Amino acid sequence: MLRPMRRLFRPATLTALAALGGGWPAVTAAQGRPLTPTQQLAREVYQELIELNTSTNTSGTTIAAQAMARRFRAAGFAESDMFIGGVREDKHNLVVRYRGRGGPNAPKPVLLLAHLDVVEALKSDWSPDLDPFKLVERDGYFYGRGTTDDKAQGAIFVATVLKMKQDGYVPDRDIVLALTADEEGGCCNGARWLVQNHRSWVDASVVLNEGGFGYLKGDKPLSNTIEATQKVFGGFTITAKNPGGHSSLPRPDNAIYQLAAALMKLSTHKFPVELNDVTRAYLERTAPVETAEIGNAMRAILRNPADARAEAVLAKEPMYNSIMRTTCVATMLKGGHAQNALPQTAEVYVNCRMLPDARPADVRAALVKAIGDSSIEVSAAPTRDPRPVAPVTKDVMEAVEAVTKEMWGNIPVIPMMMTGATDAIPWRALGIPAYGVSGIMIDPNDLRAHGRDERLPVKSFYDGLEFTDRLVRRLTTPRVVP
Ligand SMILES: [Zn+2]
Repeated sequence: MLRPMRRLFRPATLTALAALGGGWPAVTAAQGRPLTPTQQLAREVYQELIELNTSTNTSGTTIAAQAMARRFRAAGFAESDMFIGGVREDKHNLVVRYRGRGGPNAPKPVLLLAHLDVVEALKSDWSPDLDPFKLVERDGYFYGRGTTDDKAQGAIFVATVLKMKQDGYVPDRDIVLALTADEEGGCCNGARWLVQNHRSWVDASVVLNEGGFGYLKGDKPLSNTIEATQKVFGGFTITAKNPGGHSSLPRPDNAIYQLAAALMKLSTHKFPVELNDVTRAYLERTAPVETAEIGNAMRAILRNPADARAEAVLAKEPMYNSIMRTTCVATMLKGGHAQNALPQTAEVYVNCRMLPDARPADVRAALVKAIGDSSIEVSAAPTRDPRPVAPVTKDVMEAVEAVTKEMWGNIPVIPMMMTGATDAIPWRALGIPAYGVSGIMIDPNDLRAHGRDERLPVKSFYDGLEFTDRLVRRLTTPRVVP
């Protein structure tokens, strides 16, 4: 479930980053040159996946899981190294194990995680010459539902593992691929189900998942990101009640006015700035490519999170504001029961994006305090344990930086906290490091995930393939013990 990161970087930042960016080393052959066999394979898998309608609420994922399983069988994978199953017959997941050197000291596997389901798409909503479930390559773009979210990474992972098999590559540990159901919603989240019911198949030392893109300005690479943690979705219903009465006899006390007064207080309420290891790294690495004013404010807030002047500068930018604190915002309102009756109930839904290590009860208490009216009801806090935020591990950060440098020269790798949610959560809850990283470059202002005419630059698909192959090999290359 990717949220649009339209404003990930401010125009000024993009310009500043542009000054940093390196050229494109000629590693890809997408445009105008014949595809390599691996690129050809990846494109075929991509097309096969896109053209299988795996919409969460209509079709299910079993058709795609079986299609990919056929490819692994044909490539010689043993049935014992493959698992297909799920909560429901039409919501199957596929897990494939590519065996490494093994042995008693072998580290736990690297898990490549991608979801097979996509958000609904109606042909009638798309451009007349596009069909969401037909892969179209046109003007340097691949079009189709899932081209960005999340079938590019799925196809790249499938082709990467098949190529390793072909090459006879022997990693220092197993590499496990999990293609899952219902990440976008629905009844049968495969990631959680696998972790809860088939842990041995998906146990890992590290998980690579969606959520981390590289960012382009025009066709120039500016930065690569690694998503290391996520804010947590939660919400409260806030209600004002009143005895009501006949509307021809209005009184000063009124449920709608009372709720409106509470809302005005919430509209200016701000949670305190609280940074974690990931957002500190994000600010540290973004400051040098930001404008002087913003860069200085980032450095100041890193020195002192209570710095009000720095906070005021950063809070002007929705992205930076949401990076440094829990946010809560009113999203749905209802009240009254008849036009000629004084309202007895007025209710608002407030959606919060909590910092991963925030306690929901504390968030609720802050809202109650901000409203300052004990007769207003605030619903109970969602029960959820605070999630520890782990910095990106050294070996993963070094590997991502090394491959990023090889492929795109001197562009920054920026750890980030996502405001949306992905299937990394069940592994993080077990303390297993899970990262959103893909090396798939996109224009942050053209992210069409979940939307109309979803598309991905052709070159970015093949570069993502190259990036992933190099990264997975780098993470699993047997270390020579001196
Ligand atoms: Zn997704």
